[in-house]
Amino acid sequence: MGENVEGYELGDRIIADQIVPCGKCKFCKDGHYWMCQPHDMLGFMSYTNGGMAEYVRYPKNCVISRVPEDMTLEQALLVEPYGCSKHAVDRGNITNEDVVVISGAGTLGLGMITYARMKNPKLLVVLDMQDKRLEKAKEFGADLVFNPSKCDIEKEIKALTDDYGCDVYIEATGHPSSVVQGLTITRKLGRFVEFSVFGSKITYRLSQKVWKKCFVGVFRTAG
Ligand SMILES: [Zn+2]
Repeated sequence: MGENVEGYELGDRIIADQIVPCGKCKFCKDGHYWMCQPHDMLGFMSYTNGGMAEYVRYPKNCVISRVPEDMTLEQALLVEPYGCSKHAVDRGNITNEDVVVISGAGTLGLGMITYARMKNPKLLVVLDMQDKRLEKAKEFGADLVFNPSKCDIEKEIKALTDDYGCDVYIEATGHPSSVVQGLTITRKLGRFVEFSVFGSKITYRLSQKVWKKCFVGVFRTAG
């Protein structure tokens, strides 16, 4: 612990947001610190180490939270990722009339299912290419699960929604085909939430059919 650090003692159990806000830019100053312009992140960008390291140094700009006494360290590891899951679900503005599709049932997708379930949607559908993950998705609260490699997702979702398409689609796979799928099966005026980070370029033709949908497009970065 640095000699000028106040308010903490050695042995305190703490976690930090992944972003390390600069505290000086326009976004930090107007309260949107997670959109910080330099966007330094623990273990993600080149300025601040972290991730798989045995020890991580939290610089003074870190946004630190204390781990409650009754929370194990294994649970505490999920606080930051699940915080991201919650944020993605919040951006979908889910109501109890919505058919919600979450594409991707990895760790963060499972966090999204948990939180989306608490919003009491009309129907919570989860998609994943791995059946094992879909089983997990059901455990976490999905009403219906589909494997896109085994069925026609557009047909399934249209059948569930009187041909309109889903109200909310949360993209959490990191694969371009999931973006195309989401833009195809989300209804007019629906909410498409982009969450993933992609390793390759996404190409999608904004045809007249898609243009007519007038999405409430919501995009967020990985932070
Ligand atoms: Zn900043």
